[in-house]
Amino acid sequence: MSEKSREKVPHLLRGMKDILPVDQPAWDVLRRAVHAFAASYGFSRLDTPVLEQTSLFVRSVGKNTDIVEKEMFSFVDQGNEQMSLRPEATASIARAYIEHGFVNQPKPVKLYWIGPVFRHDRPQAGRFRQFWQFDFETLGEAHPVVDAELILVLYSLIKSVGLDPVVQINSIGDASDRERYKKALLEYFRPRRNQLPEEVRKRLQRNPLRILDAKEEEVRILIQDAPQIVDFLSDEANKHFVKVLEHLDDLEIPYVLNPRLVRGLDYYNRTVFEIWNGDDETGQMALGGGGRYDGLIETLGGQATPAAGFAVGMERLLLKLREANVPLPGPETPRIFVAQLGEASRKKCLKLFEQLRRAGIPASHTLAKDGIKQQMEAANRLKVKYTLILGQKEMIDNTILIRDMDNGIQETISFEKAVSEIQKRLERSALREKSSSTEVSTD
Ligand code: AMP
Repeated sequence: MSEKSREKVPHLLRGMKDILPVDQPAWDVLRRAVHAFAASYGFSRLDTPVLEQTSLFVRSVGKNTDIVEKEMFSFVDQGNEQMSLRPEATASIARAYIEHGFVNQPKPVKLYWIGPVFRHDRPQAGRFRQFWQFDFETLGEAHPVVDAELILVLYSLIKSVGLDPVVQINSIGDASDRERYKKALLEYFRPRRNQLPEEVRKRLQRNPLRILDAKEEEVRILIQDAPQIVDFLSDEANKHFVKVLEHLDDLEIPYVLNPRLVRGLDYYNRTVFEIWNGDDETGQMALGGGGRYDGLIETLGGQATPAAGFAVGMERLLLKLREANVPLPGPETPRIFVAQLGEASRKKCLKLFEQLRRAGIPASHTLAKDGIKQQMEAANRLKVKYTLILGQKEMIDNTILIRDMDNGIQETISFEKAVSEIQKRLERSALREKSSSTEVSTD
């Protein structure tokens, strides 16, 4: 391709990706796990639009957060309305909760959500500008057992797909606890200001808690001796946290008390948590995170509604599954190929193909091609178990050839029996495969 024509070829935007057919089965495994866990734990699905008013995210996620300051895809539409592609799910779920009167339903209201979110992040491995999240949210209940159940769902789901999750947990208390803590943090850092990089110094002014998850080594060393938020919790917040931990102990969910975990969003209070894969020491590749957000619904104009939830990044899950060599399914291949010879046979084969589909037998064909050689090559490429061949002789006799692709043996059978015969043979070979695999596993 010349430089000039290359320029004209539209290309994928940076940080975006196509999910190709070969990758779909692995995505389906994750999606199925999400739906199955939601059903088991009683969460109902809620879908929200990808576009929302920008003010929704400014008011919920917070003005001084990375998401709102730097990462939202925002624009003014033809109607002069300021809108943004959703950078996360919780704010939209809270908006929908208020708007659809979920407040009148029996509590807690348990909702789950799955879909793409958008952040103008710096693209790199495991970091995209459009990525998928699934979210579980429990609204209308303040009891610590809710936090524990959410962590249980998160932990079990990630374990069930084959990873080795570790829960990182902290409490950031209530607003007044955080105010006292922020003062103590600022006091601690005041005499150390000169040791902080310019950017971190600014962050300390705007949003002191964010300094705790700083990535810079020199800052991390200073943080080790900084005051910890757990020492500033009110009795109430402390009791809540202890109860959550007791539940996790009872459930035998391994967790790490992480005093530096604050989560970067304004709406959180009390319990915050993340889930990291076992091999991740810094949380740079956190699989998911969440926490309580008891004030959010009220902030957005609804009735005071305690709530908690979590979000998991699906690309990250897949990345970690691949790194850990967890077997993931490839595309499902057909077991049967239908080959024709001649125009009349083509018509009859198209009908036969439809009968196979109705019988639930995945089949393939290249009916637009004429040569039997080409068709058999296609069948070989697909590694089908049997090929049904309808030649001129078979057309006259109302029969069909059934070819076993493993040993090349061909038999003529009555055309009417084609579907039931294929069904019988596939069942038999499935049984053989099953018994040989149990023989292997009992050895
Ligand atoms: P957060 O609320 O920012 O902690 O995001 C929740 C989860 O979404 C993270 O733990 C990641 O799995 C995922 N995530 C966040 N940002 C990105 C990104 N830019 N690309 C891919 N996944 C992301």
